[in-house]
Amino acid sequence: MSSQINVVGAGLVGSLLGLRLRQKGFDVRLYERRSDPRKVKRAEGRSINLALSHRGIGPLKAAGVYDQVAPYLIPMKGRMMHSKSADLTVQPYGKEGQHINSVPRSQLNKVLLEAAEQQNVEVFFEHQSTEVDLDMANVHFSNGNSASGDVLIGTDGAFSSVRKSMQLTDRFNFSQQYIEHGYKELHIAAINESFALDPNYLHIWPRGNFMLIALPNFDKTFTCTLFFPYEGDVSFASLRDEAQISDFFSKYFPDIPPLIPDLIHQFQNNPTASLITTKCDPWHRGKTIILGDAAHAIVPFYGQGMNSGFEDVRIFGEVGESVNWNWNELLPTYSKKRKRDADAISELALMNFVEMRDHVADPKFLRQKKLEAAIHDRFPKDWLPLYSMVTFSDMPYSEALRLGKIQGKIMQEVLEEGKDLIPEAMDFREIVERYKARK
Ligand code: FAD
Repeated sequence: MSSQINVVGAGLVGSLLGLRLRQKGFDVRLYERRSDPRKVKRAEGRSINLALSHRGIGPLKAAGVYDQVAPYLIPMKGRMMHSKSADLTVQPYGKEGQHINSVPRSQLNKVLLEAAEQQNVEVFFEHQSTEVDLDMANVHFSNGNSASGDVLIGTDGAFSSVRKSMQLTDRFNFSQQYIEHGYKELHIAAINESFALDPNYLHIWPRGNFMLIALPNFDKTFTCTLFFPYEGDVSFASLRDEAQISDFFSKYFPDIPPLIPDLIHQFQNNPTASLITTKCDPWHRGKTIILGDAAHAIVPFYGQGMNSGFEDVRIFGEVGESVNWNWNELLPTYSKKRKRDADAISELALMNFVEMRDHVADPKFLRQKKLEAAIHDRFPKDWLPLYSMVTFSDMPYSEALRLGKIQGKIMQEVLEEGKDLIPEAMDFREIVERYKARK
């Protein structure tokens, strides 16, 4: 059990993985290209806060760090939709007491790094990997250093250098797809030291082909993210001057300008970033494997990128235990087991973009959500809505996707029949039986 494991990338997944492997008794070294976030305040490249939910919380608890993270969490119990006329509609995420959590990315990363170091994981900052020998588990860094060990794990994100080395090998499949939308973050300050919006919701301004969302921060501010096409009639490219930006927000998001007095300045100066899906297969080569975004980067619309990466860590550990940490067995067994679920959440994340930016404003969709909640209320064991399967359970993503598609079809049938419009005539048991027969 005294294998030396080198992990490249000490972001969210790498630092949790390093900690967990150390807790299993391995010697672990973590290599990170950036400087120590606890010493240098760095500008966040993206998403200042994230939605942490069930699949992410379990692995944090298993690592014994959840209690350090919990004080920074802000529960969000549902979506709050803002219409074009600034009317508000609320849609709970699950049952009473169920919620997702807004967490600051940097704080979470710091807690994980701190815990890893306390358990004697050695962390090397300013070590950017440039070249990897996959069969020998050797890695070279741009500062001239190199490291060798028994196993090398790449958790170096969507543009993984470790994966790039795998891409040079025979029969390695890789694909990447940018969506037509990019995103820009905007900041809503606190008003009189209070939140400007209700902090216990994820706010959404759905506008068909684009949307704005806002998540609360611990300092009573909100981080808004505009998901918006790069090109086209209404797009980043079309908003060139102050008047165009101002008209755009007044027309589509009338409640935003009063909340962000320096909106134009922020819009013109905050970066625009792209959104990518990557897929590859296999995830291992020789003595090297990739986890987290390095293996499966997804668009952020189900709030599952980090959560699925933390779930990777849990499943990697479970497979490790099951093969008695025989690395030759572990790497291929884990890759094979996990791949279909990564593909499923990738598909679900793309589907949820359409739901968030468009469907949530559609009365028929809201009828469906209400109906599903009512069925779940009466038959909690027999009908778990797709969002709950993904967000509040450990069910494999591939199974959630399969069941969700069946549920979607049944809901379409019921809504077309208009049965939900006469609640006293609703036969919930019949719907559940229909579902059971097709599962
Ligand atoms: P990363 O967080 O990218 O970490 C990779 C680390 O590797 C970094 O520290 C990087 O500096 C380092 N690195 C990179 N290259 C090298 C190298 N060559 N050598 C050494 N180190 C290197 N997920 C959720 O679960 N919920 C959300 O609400 C959510 N919202 C999101 C919103 C947006 C706008 C975006 C873009 C993503 C969102 N995600 C969300 C996804 C989430 O950010 C990622 O899935 C998560 O950060 C993946 O963690 P990771 O550790 O695999 O990769």
